[in-house]
Amino acid sequence: MNNILIDLTKYRECINEGCDKKVPEGVIGGEPETNGLKPLRELAVFTYTCRQCEDAPCVTVCPEDALEKNEDGMIIRSTNLCVACKSCVTICPFGTMMSDFYEYKRTENLYFNLKDEKEKERFINESPEGTVQYTDKEKDEENNIYELMPGILVKDYPWEKLKKLE
Ligand code: SF4
Ligand code: SF4
Repeated sequence: MNNILIDLTKYRECINEGCDKKVPEGVIGGEPETNGLKPLRELAVFTYTCRQCEDAPCVTVCPEDALEKNEDGMIIRSTNLCVACKSCVTICPFGTMMSDFYEYKRTENLYFNLKDEKEKERFINESPEGTVQYTDKEKDEENNIYELMPGILVKDYPWEKLKKLE
């Protein structure tokens, strides 16, 4: 059982209300859909939480051209161009941009390569309680569990689903 479930709702609680420890980052990369090395949480936020604004102000405001939309309308951030000025965080009207950024120069103790089983286990151990765990669950969209990519499930309330409930 090597699937992991990342609960983004708990992550947010933890980041907004304060954690007992610093939140580590699971990093993935190499697959075409990730377009390079990516923090998994950022990929999940851009996939499920971002409203994919038509004239995305985050893209326009970025002084380094680090943000772009892919052909599906999803925002992609080039981590090697981003200078962490946080202009995109300030301008996003929905507060979906994460304010803690993946840094291109990795701080080794905080970043874990989820392709490596040992690092994956350390990532789970280092994560605040309840945010990441091994699971034998499958994706279950009725209960807000989605498959971000093979082996990685994410729990969140996607904005498109919330929109339908309004
Ligand atoms: S934080 Fe990074 S992505 Fe955001 S506007 Fe600044 S350079 Fe661009
Ligand atoms: S401004 Fe915010 S909601 Fe709109 S595309 Fe950018 S990150 Fe997504």
